[in-house]
Amino acid sequence: MAGERILIADDEPDVLAVATRALVQGGYEVTGVPSGVAAVEEAQRHNYDMLIADVKMPGMSGLRAYRLIKEAAPDTIGLIITGYGTMEMAIEAVRLGVNAFILKPFGPDELRATVARALEGRRLARENARLRALLPVHELSRTLVATTDLERLTTQVASLAARETGASFCSLLLLDDEAQELYLAATSGAGSKATRRLKLGEGIAGWVAKTGETMALQGALAEDGAVVCAGEGASSVCLPLLAQGRAIGVISLVKAAGAPPFTEADTDLLTILAGGAAAAIANAQLFTHLQRAYERLAELDHRKSEFISLAAHELRSPLAAVITYATLIEGDLSDEARDHLHVILEAAMRLNLLLDDLLNLRNLDTGTAVLHPEPVALDAATGQALGALVHLAQAKEQQVSLALPPELPQVFADPQKLQIILLNLLSNAIKFTPNGGLITVEALPDRSQVVVSVRDSGIGIPDGERERIFERFYQVADSLRREQGGLGLGLSIVKGMVEMHGGRIWVESQPGRGSTFSFSLPKWQSPAGA
Ligand code: ADP
Repeated sequence: MAGERILIADDEPDVLAVATRALVQGGYEVTGVPSGVAAVEEAQRHNYDMLIADVKMPGMSGLRAYRLIKEAAPDTIGLIITGYGTMEMAIEAVRLGVNAFILKPFGPDELRATVARALEGRRLARENARLRALLPVHELSRTLVATTDLERLTTQVASLAARETGASFCSLLLLDDEAQELYLAATSGAGSKATRRLKLGEGIAGWVAKTGETMALQGALAEDGAVVCAGEGASSVCLPLLAQGRAIGVISLVKAAGAPPFTEADTDLLTILAGGAAAAIANAQLFTHLQRAYERLAELDHRKSEFISLAAHELRSPLAAVITYATLIEGDLSDEARDHLHVILEAAMRLNLLLDDLLNLRNLDTGTAVLHPEPVALDAATGQALGALVHLAQAKEQQVSLALPPELPQVFADPQKLQIILLNLLSNAIKFTPNGGLITVEALPDRSQVVVSVRDSGIGIPDGERERIFERFYQVADSLRREQGGLGLGLSIVKGMVEMHGGRIWVESQPGRGSTFSFSLPKWQSPAGA
């Protein structure tokens, strides 16, 4: 592929001119210089993909020029022009990694073909290095995806980056979004450990985080982003950690003086690694964030439950006094005053039921609700619940019927909790059924259980609301609730209590036509198996 930059060094003007012309015609960007020294100077000013040098030049040989250029720019490839071949020269050339030779005299086609082959070799070597780079990244990505512990994650990324590139020191800085500052999250290897925070844009790391661009430089980078050592041979690279196009931090690596500088293959590997690491780090940050928010919510929820239970307890005593004294004075009152007293008592009893709900919910929440199961006859239990509510149904001229089969087995249930379940379902049926409606209680044995259903001909429950009504405080909008009162707790308590028995509750409903709430309870099995 043409377009690469080629530096040619030859002290023979004719050879230089022929070679330059041949390569320009081949589509390369070519610079010609007359000596090895000039080639080294030129390579310091500009980057070249390839050096073509005559092996024998006064002042500095082509091989020595190539060695010096490669020290600073290790990805430069070398093509040596030679009029003779000696064993020593060949050994030295191989040691330096010279990629090709061409013998004088050579024609333009031969030169172009040799250059093209050498460049293609470099491209393949790079491709190879890229593929090799994917292996450790793949290995890491499995761990990265599974790790949400930010500290472990950043430490692993830093040590892998250092290990795979042969860097002596690696530091990983993360961006504190609120303060817009970089802070040190992890290091690997020995290096200067400045812990100062860096403003976005400040120092090299700050610049890389701000611009999202990679920077490679001669000298050593401290984790605070300043070049701390411009020592000979030391080199550094600083890459942004980009997650969804946004820099969430930077990763900096330093190679000690004397070690070969970072190659393009190193940068390729680091770019791939930084991409995977950034996604994993952003994930872990999000996870930590969500976890904190969740903990905070749980804490608030706990406080709210504590408040509800405390308030319910505190309200209970004065309410008990109201009910007791109201009952005591009943006999001393005139008929009119007694009617008023009944209104007071009824309101107080309703309040008492609400407090019961709050306390029941709390007991279910905290696991302090205890089950005292015993064999219970359903006809008696449903009769008792209906008896307590029949006046409400009568007030709405509703027809209530009990349809239990004659040989219905007993259930094994806590009688008090069964009353709470039945009272809630029946009072809902009465509340949400218009005047003159129909309410039926049915029960059917089903293998080891008995299924009890409370059916009404009321307003029904829209699709999409049927599961939600079992959540606490949930009430269907625009229901008759506001006229009827209620905290939206009844069904969640009923569900909790049915589940305590090992049973299940569900609802079938057609808006405008009615609802059927069904729940299952275990059948009573006598110990003798009779
Ligand atoms: P509430 O104290 O508000 O009745 P519940 O938990 O008992 O609380 O019920 C939650 C919501 O479910 C009610 O507000 C109502 O919207 C709906 N609901 C419950 N039972 C019925 C029913 N039989 N018919 C229609 N809607 C009902």
